[in-house]
Amino acid sequence: MRKIALALHGGAGTILKSTMTPEKEIAYKTALDEALNIGYSALEKGASSLDAVEATVMSLENCPLFNAGKGSVFTNAGSHEMDAAIMTGKDLMAGAVAGISGVKNPVHLARMIMEKSEHVMLSGVGAAEFAKLLKLDFENEDYFFNQFRYDQFLEIRDTDKFQLDHTEKKFGTVGAVALDQNGNIAAATSTGGMTNKRFNRVGDSPIIGAGTYANNNTCAISCTGHGEFFIRAVVAYDISCLIEYKGLSLTEACEFVVNDKLKKFGGEGGLVALNTNGDCVLAFNSDGMYRAWKTSENKKGVEIYR
Ligand code: ASP
Repeated sequence: MRKIALALHGGAGTILKSTMTPEKEIAYKTALDEALNIGYSALEKGASSLDAVEATVMSLENCPLFNAGKGSVFTNAGSHEMDAAIMTGKDLMAGAVAGISGVKNPVHLARMIMEKSEHVMLSGVGAAEFAKLLKLDFENEDYFFNQFRYDQFLEIRDTDKFQLDHTEKKFGTVGAVALDQNGNIAAATSTGGMTNKRFNRVGDSPIIGAGTYANNNTCAISCTGHGEFFIRAVVAYDISCLIEYKGLSLTEACEFVVNDKLKKFGGEGGLVALNTNGDCVLAFNSDGMYRAWKTSENKKGVEIYR
């Protein structure tokens, strides 16, 4: 069998062992492992990297532990607005959605935008209308309501602060990258954004080249972290360019951008990346990042802390 690989993240930030209970740790690792197996077993059966990243991210979107889909955080208006993107490395096709409410799986909507519209990105009401037209699954407010997230929001609602969903109590954005048996790579990212974000704020996740990118010639990347910094640093495409134009290896490019450039810039977060050789990199400059990976070279891991 040709090489296959899959890596995923469930958000990066101040995630410390000292503030995690054993039960919670098991719950997160189980959810990460489940999502990993869904994507990886699809690849083993010959699924495309596109199908694998979509299925992996949908599994994480359906899990209330992560800040995406069902577990999305609240905006400063008390609403849920989700962002997602998906991209294939073989033809640079991409689809993205910003500020979507009510749709059960924003990553699936991003894929539909890529495949069934002439556009790359739709937002807000227009995106919801497109989803209705395609009869995608919608859920009501109760589905997205989570007491824990609501309390998080109430703590900072009346302030100008907005925060990464990643203190010891808070968990963020999800994403995946995959390499399939045909040698194609893909990336997908989905998020509820940042707690108490200004409504209609858009983060890096749906922006191609910032939070999500895939190109067979270089790499597939899904980011998580403080979106404003990731947008300004054009993180995913920057890494791709270092590989394409400067000949850096995947590891060198990721380490430089995440742990040098972005860190000096003040951008907290991390990413998962892989290339058509099956090299996998999971890099972050925060205390922790929920992450998991598996390759056909028998490398597997499910980790949380540094
Ligand atoms: N990058 C996301 C955003 O800024 C947040 C996260 O990764 O948790 O919307």
